[in-house]
Amino acid sequence: MGEHRRDIDIAVIGAGVLGLATTDSLVRRGADVVCFDGRVPGSGLSGGLTRTFRHRHDDERHVALAVDGRAGFAEWERRSGKVLIGDEGAVYAGMGPADVKGLALHGVAHHFVEAAGQDSVFPGLAPVDGPLLVDPGAGAIRAKHTIDALVGWVGDRIVNAHIHSVTVPADGDGVEIQTTEAIYRARHVVIAAGTAAPGLARGAGIDIPLESRLHVRPHFRVRGYEPGRTRALPCWVDRAGIWGETVYGSPIGDTGRYVIGLIGAEVDIPFGPDGALPEGSTTLDDARRVVDYVERALPGLDPEPVGVRVCVMTKLPAGSDALRAWHTPGVTAVAGHNLFKMAPVLGELLADTALEDRLPDRLADAGAGALVAP
Ligand SMILES: Cc1cc2nc3c(=O)[nH]c(=O)nc-3n(C[C@H](O)[C@H](O)[C@H](O)COP(=O)(O)OP(=O)(O)OC[C@H]3O[C@@H](n4cnc5c(N)ncnc54)[C@H](O)[C@@H]3O)c2cc1C
Repeated sequence: MGEHRRDIDIAVIGAGVLGLATTDSLVRRGADVVCFDGRVPGSGLSGGLTRTFRHRHDDERHVALAVDGRAGFAEWERRSGKVLIGDEGAVYAGMGPADVKGLALHGVAHHFVEAAGQDSVFPGLAPVDGPLLVDPGAGAIRAKHTIDALVGWVGDRIVNAHIHSVTVPADGDGVEIQTTEAIYRARHVVIAAGTAAPGLARGAGIDIPLESRLHVRPHFRVRGYEPGRTRALPCWVDRAGIWGETVYGSPIGDTGRYVIGLIGAEVDIPFGPDGALPEGSTTLDDARRVVDYVERALPGLDPEPVGVRVCVMTKLPAGSDALRAWHTPGVTAVAGHNLFKMAPVLGELLADTALEDRLPDRLADAGAGALVAP
């Protein structure tokens, strides 16, 4: 059978930020690892230029992962010689003392500013009646630079192949991966395939209740922006809803552009694997809502969008910050949302899983209680 099958120790499916981080961790530990992607690395959920790095999460375990993610990014910055997270900070509206318990527990610097001090933390924001929470160690992740750095480190381990399926054969001799290029058998497979994780994991008996939605991200010009001279705007999380929407916002590096997206359980359009949208849906409605928000809330931005990206978002039933890992002997899968910021630490933990064939306690306990498949 030798000519028909290729044996490898560890296969990572997906060269998004999580698969690349996992592969990088395994390479540094001397493992025999191949990372598969059917597309250009970083063109899935990890695509685009910017993501928000923020420490605050409702679940304190996610705060802890963010703290370690930040340290991991600092190490990636040292290795790459590039800034991967800017020093813009993050400002949140609609937060009270109960919302910062996780920050306090994990020693993350933060403070509240009252209305009078608002301009010092977010110039260009319309007046807010109430305190703003400031997370000074937050900032805009340079997503593309991060992907480029990771590909630079592990590029020779990436195989450009589409994976049709992952199965656990009855012969007990590893996990089989059906690819466009060859039939592989691996001792362990890590499925970090973004929107495709449920389909691939199903073949290994793992059920991932992941939903995909289309999400609209218009971006805007910062008024009066001069590179290197104007202070960058912070990342923004508005959960107050005083301007009629809850949103997030993030500077796009030092381009003088700023992206805004809607947040909330009901926003974004359900998106099936066949690409069909619910009848009558249009993404233009969400784009208009964002523009209306900018007109009301952000006089520091020119409300005429300079562009709009439509992205696919994934969500687990436990909510938009939910994260979960699944394990069955020989196979690990991961899914969630807002995981870019945690990629360095998740990569380490997924690498541990592949090497030891068990979920580390921290990953088993990362979200709504990880399912350990029988
Ligand atoms: C609009 C938007 C805004 C976001 N904002 C933030 C934010 O502010 N902060 C934050 O931390 N996170 C944010 N996120 C989430 C973050 O980007 C994702 O959690 C993260 O990028 C997921 O990376 P991944 O490696 O798991 O998935 P992906 O990047 O999707 O990687 C999966 C890879 O698997 C490959 N693949 C899939 N199926 C197959 C197959 N069958 N065969 C071969 N290859 C396959 C794909 O081509 C892809 O490259 C945001 C996401 C989006 C979409």
